[in-house]
Amino acid sequence: MPSGIYTCLSKIADLITANKDFLTELDREIGDSDHGINMARGFSAVMEKLSPDDADIGAVLKKTGMTLLSKVGGASGPLYGTAYMEAGKVTAGKTELTSEDFNLIFEAAIAGIQKRGHAVKGEKTMLDAIIPASEAYAKKISEGSGIIEALEAAVSSAREGIEYTKTIIATKGRASYLGERSIGHQDPGATSATLTLEAILDYFKNK
Ligand code: ADP
Ligand code: MG
Repeated sequence: MPSGIYTCLSKIADLITANKDFLTELDREIGDSDHGINMARGFSAVMEKLSPDDADIGAVLKKTGMTLLSKVGGASGPLYGTAYMEAGKVTAGKTELTSEDFNLIFEAAIAGIQKRGHAVKGEKTMLDAIIPASEAYAKKISEGSGIIEALEAAVSSAREGIEYTKTIIATKGRASYLGERSIGHQDPGATSATLTLEAILDYFKNK
């Protein structure tokens, strides 16, 4: 049987690939029409590198991050690459994740994205989905919820984050060249980040 982390990454890769054209269309509106292509190419390279036997979550996330960094052009490759690599550091040697590990993963991923891209919440980027998702997850866990319920809250906050990106001007990345004209469009990176969380939730629901 494939390892849990392999199965989870397969789900992420599948959902990103199934939404390749949608993500690219979103990027056509406020960027350069390559976000879906970038992400699908990256995750197809990731799945080629991983083996179903790989069970060390930290090692798998590190390999995923390094592959995204080396195979994906544009802003999203280095940003997602760093997020996965930083998430790999806080899960090194683990083969199971606790609810607290997910808090560490969110924090590490966000810190990595911010170290690399210098964006904060409200700049119409992937962070507008990931930061509220992380906050919603942490709140649910602190109230005593389990991982699935907390991830459900994270996904729903990420979806709200996508809606929020429609209302604001992009001040980071390519979409910032559009200024006011970026309003009304949802951010491609916030969308791929939400898909990632949806795939993780799906993995836990079917585990
Ligand atoms: P590029 O913009 O180089 O073509 P992609 O199209 O693959 O790269 O990715 C665009 C996405 O990257 C945006 O929708 C946004 O979410 C994200 N992004 C761009 N710049 C930043 C940044 N500085 N911090 C966080 N996310 C960013
Ligand atoms: Mg692009």
